[in-house]
Amino acid sequence: MKRLVIILALILSFVFGVAAANAGKIEDVKKAGVLVCGVKDSVNLFGFVDADSKELVGFDVDVCKYIADKLGVKTEFKVVTSKNRIPMLVQGSVDILAATMTHKFSRDEQIDFSITYFMDGQKLLVKNDGVVMSTADLVNKKVGTVKGSTSEKNIKNAQPKAQVISYDEYPQAFMALKQGKVKAVTTDSGILAGLKAGAEHPEDWAIVGEFFASEPYGLGVPQNDSAFRDFVNKSLNEMWIDGTYQQLFKKWMGYDLPSGWQIELWPM
Ligand code: GLU
Repeated sequence: MKRLVIILALILSFVFGVAAANAGKIEDVKKAGVLVCGVKDSVNLFGFVDADSKELVGFDVDVCKYIADKLGVKTEFKVVTSKNRIPMLVQGSVDILAATMTHKFSRDEQIDFSITYFMDGQKLLVKNDGVVMSTADLVNKKVGTVKGSTSEKNIKNAQPKAQVISYDEYPQAFMALKQGKVKAVTTDSGILAGLKAGAEHPEDWAIVGEFFASEPYGLGVPQNDSAFRDFVNKSLNEMWIDGTYQQLFKKWMGYDLPSGWQIELWPM
């Protein structure tokens, strides 16, 4: 009998222990009163430092703020790079990633993703002199991109004869283009548009060629926490339905959201 009681006690403590360990991100975040968002700090339009306020701003920053509002908590931002963003989420340094991140099955092995919240594809940013007009013109040429980005592989698929040079951040890749060290920068067209718009003479640069890779962005969320993932997906649906998404798109991209794409809407 005594043995049975001990076994029962062990089972119960295991069950409740697991339940406590899996309390979930929603409860944790509400208890802390803050949602820690991993965002970029050098990607114009999406996550960057405002020159006047010195605050982190951008489309991804606003998406994170919207989700924090829905949770009824404040936001704290931590800067991530393409290379360290997934490890930072896995380690729990951030609660969520809004970081120009494409959801891919290979990345899904370590973290989970929201539904697609931004749709883009990859192109080339080049000098506006007509020399490089597509990936076909990059045979034996150097192309810059960023460590840990999908572009590293995509450009190799699109032009196996290009030499890929990976930098830590996109502004460094753009600097290399300005200095003639690479003939093109490749990544998502929205990021390239941000680099061009932020240049001293935007007209000196051109975004060229066809899309050669499709890049649906997902918010990164911790693995196997479906309550949190559902909450994030529902918030994204609400963001679309209440018009905030369309407003933010216009605010940051500078033009109306083109028709033909919408967030995956689930009936409520
Ligand atoms: N969306 C691509 C990716 O997730 C490129 C942008 C980035 O480096 O964050 O890798």
